[in-house]
Amino acid sequence: MKVSRVNLTTGPGLTMVIDRKRSSARCISTPVLLSFSLLLCLFMIEKASPAQEVALTFDDLPAHAPLPPGVTRAGVAKQIIKALESAHAPKSYGFMNAGKLQTVPEDIEVLNLWRAAGLPLGNHTYSHMSLNANTVEAFEQDIQANEPLLDSMMHGRDWRWFRYPYLWEGDTREKRRAIRSYLAEHKYHIAQVTLDFEDWAWNGPYARCSAKNDSKAIEQLKTSYLSTAAEYISFGQQMARMIYGRDIKHVLLLHAGAFDAVMLPQLIDLLKQRGFKLVSLQQAERDPAYRSDPDMGLQWGGTLLQQMMEARHLQIPAHQEKPMKELDAMCR
Ligand SMILES: [Zn+2]
Repeated sequence: MKVSRVNLTTGPGLTMVIDRKRSSARCISTPVLLSFSLLLCLFMIEKASPAQEVALTFDDLPAHAPLPPGVTRAGVAKQIIKALESAHAPKSYGFMNAGKLQTVPEDIEVLNLWRAAGLPLGNHTYSHMSLNANTVEAFEQDIQANEPLLDSMMHGRDWRWFRYPYLWEGDTREKRRAIRSYLAEHKYHIAQVTLDFEDWAWNGPYARCSAKNDSKAIEQLKTSYLSTAAEYISFGQQMARMIYGRDIKHVLLLHAGAFDAVMLPQLIDLLKQRGFKLVSLQQAERDPAYRSDPDMGLQWGGTLLQQMMEARHLQIPAHQEKPMKELDAMCR
């Protein structure tokens, strides 16, 4: 049995209570207060509850993955916004592809809702372009093509945050360096990712299982979404400690999909249970960890942490694989 609460007497008049479940600690004072023991207690609180901070980010606005019957893109956006507001989350970036509006112009409503809620938009290329499959010039043009709408929707606010589609940052070092130089010249920040459990993979099965009214399958999807999220949050934290020797401020990648919208309140609860505080992308990326650059060609990219592990030839910690095959086979 695991002990979740520990009482430590840190000196005359002071007891520290560590709650392992909540990753928190507090001091309890008695009338005999000595400054030394107070200092010691504060020091131990620092040790007992390292700051865990995470920024939530959403990719592929205004449209991501198939929808269940009766669900609209605007409905998904409203559900995500509501969950963020209920959790008092700092303003989350939505990374958009304006090219999606060519086929479904009415999806502009999603971007309008996002902005009306005060949430910022960032650049995810115009057509969700693969850098692996395209030249540097074509990729730069696709970044640029996304800018007029971004600029008009953001009214001069900071939209120069760039999220690479598929987290592919260049399959050769030359391409990687060329795009990084372009982004720097155009005053972009790279919206890096450190936590990713491939949340997108649940949206397709959710649409299919909903169409079949398969509530048992939907329950399974909910369970596996949360357990995979939990596993990969720990995985990211472990990699960060291996690379930087400490906990870093994290950035979590999510998508603007129907199942993500359903699961967001529970996902936020999970993060809070793990001791995370929600912060903005700007706050998270103030961590010096985001200045590191693996500077190598990587065909399948990955999170900043996965790239750094590869660049430094570190051994990937043991972890459960994601249930991709099972998800793909569900409700067919
Ligand atoms: Zn994307």
